[in-house]
Amino acid sequence: MPQAKFLKAKINSDTGLPYLALIDGITPDPDYTVTEWADNYRILPKVSSKESGKYRSSRTPYLVEIMDCLSANSPVQEICVMKATQLGFTEVGNNWFFYIVDLVQGPMMMVFPTGKLAEEHSKQKIAPSIQDTERIRQKIKDSRTRDSGNTVTVKEFPGGILFLYGSESLSGARSKPIRFLFLDDIDGFSIYITNEGDAVDRFSARTDTYEILKKIYSVSTPTIKGMSRIEGIFNESDQRYYEVPCPFCLNLQKLEWGGRDTKFGIKFDRNKKGLIKQIWYECKFCNKKIPERHKTQMMAIEFGAKWKPTYPEREKRGYQISGLYAPLGWKSWTAIATQFLDVRGNQERLKVWNNTRMGLPFEQRGSQPEWIKLKSRAEPYEILTVPEKGLLLTAGVDTQDNRLICSVYAWGKGEESWLVYHGELYGDPAQGDVWKELDSVLERSYRHNSGADLRIESMAIDTGGHRTQAVYNYCRARMPRVIAVRGAPKPGRPVISNAPSLQDVDFSGAKIEKGVQLWSVGSDTAKAMIYGRLNLQEPGPGYVHFPIGMQDEFYMQLTAEKIITEFRKGFPHPVWVKTRERNDALDTFVYAYAAAIRAGISILEWDEIEKLIKSQSVPVSDDFGQKESPKGGFLGDHKNFLG
Ligand SMILES: [Zn+2]
Repeated sequence: MPQAKFLKAKINSDTGLPYLALIDGITPDPDYTVTEWADNYRILPKVSSKESGKYRSSRTPYLVEIMDCLSANSPVQEICVMKATQLGFTEVGNNWFFYIVDLVQGPMMMVFPTGKLAEEHSKQKIAPSIQDTERIRQKIKDSRTRDSGNTVTVKEFPGGILFLYGSESLSGARSKPIRFLFLDDIDGFSIYITNEGDAVDRFSARTDTYEILKKIYSVSTPTIKGMSRIEGIFNESDQRYYEVPCPFCLNLQKLEWGGRDTKFGIKFDRNKKGLIKQIWYECKFCNKKIPERHKTQMMAIEFGAKWKPTYPEREKRGYQISGLYAPLGWKSWTAIATQFLDVRGNQERLKVWNNTRMGLPFEQRGSQPEWIKLKSRAEPYEILTVPEKGLLLTAGVDTQDNRLICSVYAWGKGEESWLVYHGELYGDPAQGDVWKELDSVLERSYRHNSGADLRIESMAIDTGGHRTQAVYNYCRARMPRVIAVRGAPKPGRPVISNAPSLQDVDFSGAKIEKGVQLWSVGSDTAKAMIYGRLNLQEPGPGYVHFPIGMQDEFYMQLTAEKIITEFRKGFPHPVWVKTRERNDALDTFVYAYAAAIRAGISILEWDEIEKLIKSQSVPVSDDFGQKESPKGGFLGDHKNFLG
């Protein structure tokens, strides 16, 4: 009974929660759901909707249960959705917000990967909906009136308030108690590193005060298997799939892609040009061909379609759904299959298809690339120079007892990368001299094709082996640009941890506040990504470029491992094993990649960086090496990626 809950919340709010007080005269109907509210009142604005006008939940029946869970009378508190793109799940967040404005009250927050996306959502979705939906227009004042409490990122309404934030916003993640939290596209959330932990955890902690009254709705298209945030949350949930009846045999089944070797799923015939001329879904039970036009009826709740939990005993609700369920008139099976045929030869593009169309995390193939093939495709750019599309430099350093091994990579759009330097610096890291050499790698400038000078934005140094303390000393003096890392060779770890551990202790054994931070690197995940990329055939997203002139040894080290499957207690476990003694070039690539992720390559505005670099492209003297670079890095004066 929501009434009783509200009462309890009011008592709990002695702590001074500002928005929980019930407004006299507003009594939420305990049986009114978000679905019913949306069907009765929601108007989709013309400016930003595929199908403007009255919202109809019957158009996307798979959203109904989710909206019902978000309703005041549902006991469900945490809902996650791992999904293909463009299925209406963000609109559910909007419906939820307007329902709260109209009937429930309380503070709400919507978080998007970046502040820019949050503002766009506010301007393109929320603002026009307020204008078009009469019941809401009465409650949220026009932002043009003074003291309306209504800006792009804050919407006040009687008894509540909405904040819109980007995941990188620390102030957003602090202080404000939130009862209703909508986290949109969490796999795109910032992994900006602070000691406060992962962005999702930080924002979720804002709801703690509300205990049994809070609701968290997390939505995302997944990314890489084992790294994807939404996959992690979904795996802990009751894992629901939408089952629809076959129009012929009526057996309920989840719609799956299937594939060439399966007897059910999407099948098609192609004409001589290779274009799809007929497409159908083959029933898992009766193997009859189901044309797409039956989809509307198959998905309808009144015909028996429903979400089925895999683990009904679990408390958290989790939903997974592919683009095959998109309503007629949205993305068709033909469009999805045509795209598949187009991308299937390219692992990186196949990954995107798998994420955005199937709503599934993608397993990177870790098959060992052939070193001779890599060498044969080397390109004519000079070592220590950066080709045009390489826009940000990172370095990875491996530590041995008698030397440091260092790789510098340039990164660009789509995480395409270029090897810029690879070298061994001889000397015992326990002594000082070899570190001075590393300084010259770190501090020198690297000539970009445009004429601009780039510096290394982030460097990660391995602390394994016997020289850990020496690495800490070097990193401590150069934080946050240089970080200490340690490989965590377990499957499923993120390429770099979301938060470091403090390593320096004082004489009493207490951690020193500004002491060196140690970051954990998911080597297995990184190696799988790197090998997936080394196996790409064509330049583009993910592709790795090498300059002519690298020795055979470099390529052999880079390809010195392979993945094998070990069985432990009957379960398959992928394990990386060395096929050669030395694998340093692979390790340094892993660390440079970890440094790149930490520098934000997955969320950077590459176009802006490109502009910045081109604006810096003044001719300078050619004396590479000892040239003094501006303090703080090339990008340091303009935008600090490391927070
Ligand atoms: Zn059937």
